[in-house]
Amino acid sequence: MAKYEVIIIGGGPAGLTAGLYTSRAGLKSLLMERGIIGGQIINATLVENYPGFPQGISGAELGSLMHQQAVKYDLEIVAAEVTGISRGKFYIVSTTEGNFEAKAIIIAAGSEYRKLGVPGEERLTGHGVSYCATCDGFFFRDREVAVVGGGDTAITDALELTRHARKVYVIHRRDQLRASQVLQQRAFAEPKLEFIWSTVIEELVGDKMMEEIKLCNAKTGQRSILKVAGVFVGVGLMPNSRSFFNIVELDDAGYIVTDEAMVTSAPGILAAGDIRRNSPRQVAAAVGDGVTAAISAFKYVQEVGNGARITSS
Ligand code: NAP
Repeated sequence: MAKYEVIIIGGGPAGLTAGLYTSRAGLKSLLMERGIIGGQIINATLVENYPGFPQGISGAELGSLMHQQAVKYDLEIVAAEVTGISRGKFYIVSTTEGNFEAKAIIIAAGSEYRKLGVPGEERLTGHGVSYCATCDGFFFRDREVAVVGGGDTAITDALELTRHARKVYVIHRRDQLRASQVLQQRAFAEPKLEFIWSTVIEELVGDKMMEEIKLCNAKTGQRSILKVAGVFVGVGLMPNSRSFFNIVELDDAGYIVTDEAMVTSAPGILAAGDIRRNSPRQVAAAVGDGVTAAISAFKYVQEVGNGARITSS
């Protein structure tokens, strides 16, 4: 079984940054990624809020630059999906490509946006359909847009979008919001917001770009069409933490609980980026988490080297 000092799970900004730091610090490091290196950011047309790129940079280019920099100091990368972590003398990471041993693990497996699962959604993603108002709201200056969902994400996104768009519709499947009271109060006081209650999306329609939404009232069954230039889907996130529930503490929504040093409930296992509880879900924040987790991993590996045990719970 191949042995490493640090194994990093996830090849997005948090994982690549952690890998850069651990390998540059001289730790034998392996990064595992099941999909494309770069993470969710590679889908962003233009990233305008990552420091150091005043003209903005495409998500794909940013991910590629992070990848190039991460492997500069002998970080190894394997294309594999992690299926579980168990404890032996050190940790054993089981994957689709076999088992690997690590003294410390940094989980940076990210999260996925929950999809609506309606026709047109996949095809129009990046062409008027977005899952991130902070990333893409700017492109809808003076346009009419819709937000789907009734939770904190949807209402935060809707309020954010009123800074750019002329009008923002909030389409919610029930007649009551799930969002916190303070956000609800702000939303109801915002003249640019209009609520479309008890309504589900049947289809997102557009030739090359988003044009209109086919709606259906869940109470009356009445169908209607809403013309908008953008649709922001804010129906929740799903952390990619399914393989880790038996090894680290997760909160009720499935996010990994960490302290400010990215330390989880399991000694030597750190978590970074969107998968950890209370992540701001921004690339710059994920990068910061990656640095913090790498420094904690470095300290931990030194302790293990000095005789500390990882088998304590
Ligand atoms: P959430 O609280 O799970 O809300 C998801 C919303 O989307 C709900 O209103 C739900 O409707 C709706 N929904 C789910 N699946 C749907 C579907 N297939 N079609 C249509 N609507 C659907 O998720 P979230 O808003 O992303 O929040 C996640 C967590 O992050 C929460 O704990 C939240 O407090 C936190 N958060 C906090 C802030 C903040 O404090 N500013 C910002 C963002 C997120 P129902 O209500 O009918 O179930």
